[in-house]
Amino acid sequence: MARIVMKFGGTSVADLDRIRNVARHVKREVDAGHEVAVVVSAMSGKTNELVGWTRDASPMHDAREYDAVVASGEQVTSGLLAIALQHLGINARSWQGWQIPIKTDNAHGAARIMEINGDEIIRRMGEGQVAVIAGFQGLGPDNRIATLGRGGSDTSAVAIAAAVKADRCDIYTDVDGVYTTDPRIEPKARRLKKIAFEEMLEMASLGAKVLQVRSVELAMVFKVRTFVRSSFEDPDAPGMGDLLNPPGTLICDEEEIVEQEVVTGIAYAKDEAQISLRRLADRPGVSAAIFGPLAESHINVDMIVQNISEDGSKTDMTFTVPSGDVDKAMRVLSEHKEKIGYDVIQNESGLVKVSVIGIGMRSHAGVAATAFRALAEKGINIKAITTSEIKISILIDGPYAELAVRTLHSCYGLDKS
Ligand code: ASP
Ligand code: MG
Repeated sequence: MARIVMKFGGTSVADLDRIRNVARHVKREVDAGHEVAVVVSAMSGKTNELVGWTRDASPMHDAREYDAVVASGEQVTSGLLAIALQHLGINARSWQGWQIPIKTDNAHGAARIMEINGDEIIRRMGEGQVAVIAGFQGLGPDNRIATLGRGGSDTSAVAIAAAVKADRCDIYTDVDGVYTTDPRIEPKARRLKKIAFEEMLEMASLGAKVLQVRSVELAMVFKVRTFVRSSFEDPDAPGMGDLLNPPGTLICDEEEIVEQEVVTGIAYAKDEAQISLRRLADRPGVSAAIFGPLAESHINVDMIVQNISEDGSKTDMTFTVPSGDVDKAMRVLSEHKEKIGYDVIQNESGLVKVSVIGIGMRSHAGVAATAFRALAEKGINIKAITTSEIKISILIDGPYAELAVRTLHSCYGLDKS
């Protein structure tokens, strides 16, 4: 017997038929003798509609009322799934965030989970009852509903799995796992059997939109073994209920990954822009003078490259921001021109960042050189490079994105199983 948290996203509960299908997935695990808690999203498109209504009602609305409105999508699906389960003869009940309670901080619309007491859910699971929990929502210190930010029901599921000490958190979605790269770009992309938390964090923050980034952080901190799998497969197909090896991708501690590849995946982020400040004074405080005001304006800076100055007095600084922020960033920097002390400022939009990710590169030399050689052979110019222990990120011109992804995917042999 195991304790499993099962999370179903918006496309998995999109209508009553899909909800009945989810009920069959749950029934399979219950029939196998496992203790089960379920977390649901709203029906796909519902949250967008609710967000739209709050905006139409007033563009400057109260964030607490926004939360009261947008949390309702999950209230509906949790109740409907409990009904569908009861219809199959399963003992189930719905739980709203405030009933458990899932305690959050006060940041309405983007709240963080502070505490979950899993005792009552554990007790009831022990009696054979399935808890169907509304994702995306909790209770703020002001005693009002708080939502966790878009895509937040992944985070709800992982947090609940940690709170009830689940053996596994299964995230059911419309894809059947995590791939070596985006299969829409490279049809030879392969589904990974396992990926380490750290690698998944990089993949998720670089646009592999399978999971909310925060949920992966949480899974890493609490070592929640998280399994990405599809709800669109037949719930009773052979192997679906396999406890050790069901179809999908396990996100786990690197110690669990025995045969570690050097490179695990290739990710990319579109719509990057580059800003360069030329002939900056090379003195203490210059970086603070640039990035302080950008941070205060909530502009998320990503790659930062500074040149070592030739003469000890002037240097260049280049960094990237999302394309949508470039005008704002340019405005902030020209307002601070005097204080920063640069000569010229330049920018370019429509760039793409491709990244090679793998914890195996910690102990392997030549991983970066392989990428540079492969890109050179395809005539792809590299504009900037940054690296971390487990990642190499390369900034290139937008039109080369797909070619670069395919080139990197094949140069590390990811096409072959
Ligand atoms: N329903 C929420 C959203 O669309 C939460 C989620 O689906 O994870 O953002
Ligand atoms: Mg989602």
